[in-house]
Amino acid sequence: MAIIDEGRVVVQGLSPQWYGGRVGSVAMLRLDLLHPVISGNKWFKLRYNLLRAIGEGHRTVLSFGGAHSNHLIALAAAAGHIGLRSIGAVRGEYARDQLTDTLRTCEHYGMRLHFVSRADYARRQDTAFLQALSQQFAGVFIVPEGGANEEGIRGAQDIAAFVPAASTHLCVSVGSGTTFVGLRQALSARQALLGFVPLRGGRYLTEGIAKQLTQENNENWELFDKWHLGGFGKCDSTLISFMNDFYTVNGIPLDRVYTAKMMFGLRELIYSGAFPPDSKILAIHTGGLQGNSSVAQQLVF
Ligand SMILES: *Cc1c(COP(=O)(O)O)cnc(C)c1O
Repeated sequence: MAIIDEGRVVVQGLSPQWYGGRVGSVAMLRLDLLHPVISGNKWFKLRYNLLRAIGEGHRTVLSFGGAHSNHLIALAAAAGHIGLRSIGAVRGEYARDQLTDTLRTCEHYGMRLHFVSRADYARRQDTAFLQALSQQFAGVFIVPEGGANEEGIRGAQDIAAFVPAASTHLCVSVGSGTTFVGLRQALSARQALLGFVPLRGGRYLTEGIAKQLTQENNENWELFDKWHLGGFGKCDSTLISFMNDFYTVNGIPLDRVYTAKMMFGLRELIYSGAFPPDSKILAIHTGGLQGNSSVAQQLVF
């Protein structure tokens, strides 16, 4: 699918000033450069889902997400580009004048919004609920929330092809864990994979991730949930200052929900001496910059 030019992805070194020269190097894999909204890991998790939908003759794709979902907006744009219709099953009810920037942009790309009560949304993985949706929207191809299926994992495995062989530690933010699972499967076992969950108590995901890994891949990884900075989606002045400083020093914009909290945590880990001095750390920029619109006035980028 030619809608995304993967040649845009670069590995960009961070200024040693930012990490105090305490490790060999820190760089970011700039998946955010792929597209303004089909960005980062979302493209990789969607690509094989879209190919499968087309291959099976579907004309419409449906998926789930909240009102700020990077996944829904990426689906809306990607489906629009390739001529598939899309439906976003949105958690909660929103009046027309309450639509978030994300939902408005989803509509702009042609996505039909289908609001689902929180009680129903909790059933988004139940077979009966999914069957009812398939009947309501006949012929629809349903992608689970976050692209969390085999196609999503397979796509995430492709991200490993951009990782330099010399990297000793990989860092990625974790939501559903789909990207993390794909990466752990595809990376060399000697490369450590560190997952940063921006969610209070997010380490509960450890068990679910371990179950999805084969025994040989189930090693050399760890999740951290310490750096949720107030909880999922919360953004205070500490985080905003961090994002602005990071941009000033490194020239890289971070998103407030995922990558900013990962880099916040990574820097604390580096300064606490968690890494051997010759480590070559690669942090994956998973995109999500569209979600910064609500704090745009406070950002220098
Ligand atoms: C969705 C998202 C993640 C989490 O990806 P999972 O595969 O669901 O773990 C991380 N970073 C950004 C920017 C995202 O939008």
